[in-house]
Amino acid sequence: MNQVLRSIRSKLIMLMVGANTLFVLLMILYIAYSNNEVSKTSLLHELDQERNLSQSFFNMTIQHEADHSQILVSNLHMLHLLQEDNASGVNEFLKEERQVLDCDQILILDKAGQLLGETSSLPIPAKGLMSKSFVKESIASRREKSALFYQNGKIYYYSAMPLFEQGTLEAVAIVTKAMDTDFLQRLSCDTSIDYALLYGSKVISSTLDRNKTLLAKIALSKEQSQWLCLHPAQNLNTKIEDEDYYASFSCIGMDEASTPFILMVGIKDRGLYAVFNQAFFKIVILFLIALILSSFIAMFLSNKIHNILTKFIFYTQQIKQGDYKTKIEIGTGDEFEILAQNLESMRESIYKQDHTLQDYAANLEKKVEERTRKLNIQYNLLETIFDLQDEMIIVIKDAKITYANRSCLNYCGFSGLEEFEQKRNLYEVFGYPDKKAMQKLLEEGGPFPTELDIDDSYGNSAHFEIKFYPIMEEHNGYMVIFNDITRHKKEKERLYLQATTDALTHLSNRYDFEHKFATILKQVVRNHDSAVFCIMDIDNFKKVNDTYGHAVGDKILKRVSELLMYNIRASDLLARWGGEEFVIVYYPIDYQNAYNRLETIRKMIEKENDDGLPHITCSFGATVVQFDSNEQKVFSLADKALYQAKKEGKNCVRFL
Ligand code: GH3
Ligand code: MG
Ligand code: MG
Repeated sequence: MNQVLRSIRSKLIMLMVGANTLFVLLMILYIAYSNNEVSKTSLLHELDQERNLSQSFFNMTIQHEADHSQILVSNLHMLHLLQEDNASGVNEFLKEERQVLDCDQILILDKAGQLLGETSSLPIPAKGLMSKSFVKESIASRREKSALFYQNGKIYYYSAMPLFEQGTLEAVAIVTKAMDTDFLQRLSCDTSIDYALLYGSKVISSTLDRNKTLLAKIALSKEQSQWLCLHPAQNLNTKIEDEDYYASFSCIGMDEASTPFILMVGIKDRGLYAVFNQAFFKIVILFLIALILSSFIAMFLSNKIHNILTKFIFYTQQIKQGDYKTKIEIGTGDEFEILAQNLESMRESIYKQDHTLQDYAANLEKKVEERTRKLNIQYNLLETIFDLQDEMIIVIKDAKITYANRSCLNYCGFSGLEEFEQKRNLYEVFGYPDKKAMQKLLEEGGPFPTELDIDDSYGNSAHFEIKFYPIMEEHNGYMVIFNDITRHKKEKERLYLQATTDALTHLSNRYDFEHKFATILKQVVRNHDSAVFCIMDIDNFKKVNDTYGHAVGDKILKRVSELLMYNIRASDLLARWGGEEFVIVYYPIDYQNAYNRLETIRKMIEKENDDGLPHITCSFGATVVQFDSNEQKVFSLADKALYQAKKEGKNCVRFL
């Protein structure tokens, strides 16, 4: 995060600075290019103006000097001195005039060019001057003529003025004055043009703050200067050391042989400088500078904000990682500090809450531990209680066993639950066809088996009473208790047998018979079937007892019972009615069939001679049970039929 922020920030700054720099460079290039032509045009125009100006200025200067020198010519005193041939007087006069005119040299020549007087022979000796054309022209034209000459590094202004006496040329006065080059400075000020005063290739004076040899290079050859004198309106474009110079010359000489020039030089680059001097471009430059400065300020501010944000990120990361101890301290004295203070109070609050929560959690942990400990004790206690139970107890969840007590594991011969799961299918234990069926019944809440025979580890079966107790908190969870009721069941069976069976003959007793006969009677009534009810009585049994003893009588009773038992069908009823009387119910049966069966039994008893027991016979009183019969009626009819059989000689079957 931090790196990404820094990277974005540096890229933004680079982009901003780069864009600004590029913009500035493009602006400068554009201005330079667009103003190149402007500067050239304006420069040439300026050169033209300056040439005219310098020419005018120089002409005015020359005129001024000439006018000034006229004072000398108009002085009659000098004419008198000349007429008197007073050479010393002339020289003295000239010396004084030199002071007045502030010139370098004054000399007087006669019409033939002979020297009549002079202040000094400097800078040009009188001899040399007399041959000069301007002097000759002055004499010939009888007018003032001027010339400029270079001498000893200076340019001298010469003015030849004819002296007249009543219209007659008497002499020529020549006034010499070194040219004051200060005028170049005056011309140069308030313009971008530089001036130089040249004499041929010699530089007399210059406003150019450059090496004068440069000027020497751009100075004109003699031919060029002559050409320029003939074409004074032309400018000369020349290149010096790869810089574009525009130069113009003003020919100020009056003598072709010794022509001085005023050189006006403008460097094209200066045009650009001038352009930059203009207010608009100053504003542009200032704007660009302000832009760059603002970029730096933005850079500085972004750097500052970045540092603050880095701190904020650090602090928030600390809090995120759960360190609530580190104080948030940002002392910028601005909104960031307020934000930091707010965050700090939030951190403090979180820190306190965290402490409270930690205390609470520790407390809770202790409570949970204590509770768990107690629960474990209770669980162990419960497990011990369960293990101490004779009943088998299991807990099932979704048809899967989750707990089995010691009795259960011992009975099944398993060491633990895992073995139980591996070796026994729970649904088989409960007698379900498959796990799904068991699952379905568990979800529906029953019906569950109440009693089952379950094999132990040796394959011995025991009978269990089973109870399912749903566990309220656990869906589809049950506690199942298996109570071994094998002994109880056997005892119950024994008691039942005792209650329903005759102890001597092991046949149903009268109580059991009446119960079962009631059922048959209902069926007969409902189905319109027919059955036969018969009472059989041993004949003269008292006598048997009396004769052979009661024990023999009992044996006979047992033997008769066996015989009867073997000669009835599964659907028939047989019971000891009491004493030496038995009841037989054939169902379903018709009269004839029943009669035949009873007759067969009678004959079998009659013929029976076993174990040396005394010979006996039996009488049979029977009646057909029909849909409109009831117990009393049936018993009564059968009893009457038996009575009839006894009456009719015993050992016979009678129906009523
Ligand atoms: P009848 O031909 O008229 O039936 O003559 P009976 O002697 O059989 O008549 P009675 O009903 O008076 O006698 C029944 C006898 O059966 C009386 C009793 O001693 C004997 N008796 C009843 N129950 C038992 C028994 O459980 N064991 C023995 N040994 N005798 C019994
Ligand atoms: Mg009897
Ligand atoms: Mg009898």
